[in-house]
Amino acid sequence: MAPLGVGALLGLVLACGCGGAAASAVPEDAPDDRAPAAEARVASVVAVAPALPTPALARVVADAPAVRKSWGHADADPSNDLEPGPPPPLADCEKRLAAAGVTFKTARVGTSRHVDGVPRCGAGQVVRFKRGPGKISYSSSPLLTCQMALALADFERVVQDEAVAHLGSRVVKIEHLGTFNCRKMALYDLVSEHSYANGVDLRRFILADGRVVDVLKHFRPTGEEAADPRTLFLRRLGNRLFDEDVFSNVVTPYFDSAHRNHIHVDMARYRVDGTRPQ
Ligand SMILES: [Zn+2]
Repeated sequence: MAPLGVGALLGLVLACGCGGAAASAVPEDAPDDRAPAAEARVASVVAVAPALPTPALARVVADAPAVRKSWGHADADPSNDLEPGPPPPLADCEKRLAAAGVTFKTARVGTSRHVDGVPRCGAGQVVRFKRGPGKISYSSSPLLTCQMALALADFERVVQDEAVAHLGSRVVKIEHLGTFNCRKMALYDLVSEHSYANGVDLRRFILADGRVVDVLKHFRPTGEEAADPRTLFLRRLGNRLFDEDVFSNVVTPYFDSAHRNHIHVDMARYRVDGTRPQ
């Protein structure tokens, strides 16, 4: 994949209004008219890419890692990068979540008609994430695809590792900006992973000792060496979440100003590393 490849362009979807308007349910699906138009549309976006202001685009990972990392859930198959849509349902979703130490409620959201072969909104399999193995509470219970809920369970293990290592205290609560929110990006007719309940925006981490780590205040997206342990925690957390394949995409304030106040993570089929200076 070239530096300005489809992954980078799809990565722009992440900048499309994260934390915006409330989720909107839509009617149940009409017949699936998946068509070659989806690929044609992405190709047309690629065709105009050189005209885009792209310096803030994340480094795109062209090659999937040969060996999955310990926490791996990311979609490492580059052959399906051009297939927008929610992850396929897992037949043993509930069993896997229980094994991962997640308490949850099965949930349901509508799915919209496909437009030009691209599903616009909703997912066939979603859960309300109540509690994970890291014993973290959330500002509201995240509504997520099963794949994303499984990834969030391992995210909790990583976040506790890094919190203890850098801050000497565990995370007890996370404030997020939302999960399910049907929208597309402004410039292109491409769909955000939030439309599929397949991403979450992480804003603040509250520690057991009362301290608060705020992405807006503490990430400080510069190339300078970080002195504040809260900055080190956030940077290291982002790096690990991507490098260890916990999520497909991890986008931090390094990526662009739209992500200055949160870390976006999702389980898209393409991959973007937004955890390092551009
Ligand atoms: Zn987001």
